Amino acid sequence: MSDRTQGQIVLEHVSKRFGSVVAVDAVNLTIPGGEFFSMLGPSGCGKTTTLRMIGGFEEPTSGRILLQGEDVTWVPPAKRNVNMVFQAYGLFPHMTVAENVAFGLRIKRVGRAETTARVADSLRIVRLEGLNERRPRQLSGGQQQRVALARALVNRPAALLLDEPLGALDLKLRRQMQLELKSIAAQTATTFVYVTHDQEEALTMSDRIAVMNEGVVEQVAEPRELYEHPGTAFVAGFIGISNLLALRVDERRAGVLEMRLGEGQRLLAPDPGGVGDAFQITVRPEKVKLSNGSVPDGCSLIAGTVSEVVYLGSMTQLIVQLATGELLTVHQLNDESGHAEARVGDQVRLQWRVDHSYVIGSGASPDTEPKA
Ligand code: ATP
Repeated sequence: MSDRTQGQIVLEHVSKRFGSVVAVDAVNLTIPGGEFFSMLGPSGCGKTTTLRMIGGFEEPTSGRILLQGEDVTWVPPAKRNVNMVFQAYGLFPHMTVAENVAFGLRIKRVGRAETTARVADSLRIVRLEGLNERRPRQLSGGQQQRVALARALVNRPAALLLDEPLGALDLKLRRQMQLELKSIAAQTATTFVYVTHDQEEALTMSDRIAVMNEGVVEQVAEPRELYEHPGTAFVAGFIGISNLLALRVDERRAGVLEMRLGEGQRLLAPDPGGVGDAFQITVRPEKVKLSNGSVPDGCSLIAGTVSEVVYLGSMTQLIVQLATGELLTVHQLNDESGHAEARVGDQVRLQWRVDHSYVIGSGASPDTEPKA
């Protein structure tokens, strides 16, 4: 193992079939050591199966899995330097916190002094010092989850595999644990591979995210890149709310595509180059503004009728029906800017900058290598 492969996980063309079901379809991934990497997607997209193959709990139908540069495709779970953390914590109820955490080391016959030191170290990382003598039933759900994490970390695995580990917690605790997990990951050199169907959770915690759909990795990117430059319509729809609009090119000039909609209205988007005169574009709800005067040249302008107004506290969400029949979601921040309150049935004009239109599939490469 070289420094470069320390903690690194590589999936080469990995597929898994269960009878006629293709659960995972030719997945290629490179996860560098120390990265917080999430696999995100709807139920049944193959994320758990991928994680289980990395852990050795499932054998690929084809392809190879490399851990720290070594082919582990056929190596049993216990012989891989990875640890899995499940949603059901699986703590031993009759053992104390410290005994639960020490369990793996005892099996490996690690000496008493070293065990004590490593258990203390793990409990410090998960901020459970002082609770060594408690039993699991005397702990909250969040604390039990942290014991499960400490129990995995004590083995100093090259990678920690986490399958929806916060699923059993209520929303508030879940949010708190998301931040804690991120800080725990930052304190260790361990690679974290995290499975979730919750996009907000993935965006909060991850260095990079793989969005999966029907066994295929649709896009691998950093959270901001995924949100602002979704590679496919599926990713655009799965990460946050996104508006998908059809753009038929009437004119191409100076790197901009234009669709004319009459009466000064237009849809603009950066020209991704190449051929074609029909595109799908996406624009995020917070980029769309209600227009109340002259509109600068570099902006899309489109009229519509407000069909829904939902007050969401820090912002108000409007659904606007466009002349094209499409629906556009608009988020207005309820700050001090004092914009006019829209009502259902209002005729409005919407505008947004050309660079806030993003042509689907234009920028995202299938490249799964992290940026250097
Ligand atoms: P969830 O979030 O619901 O756990 P997932 O994205 O983790 O979903 P997987 O559990 O990986 O999805 O399942 C992917 C597909 O493989 C699904 O269609 C599932 O029904 C199927 N599958 C998973 N395990 C088995 C199995 N042991 N036998 C047969 N089919 C399976």
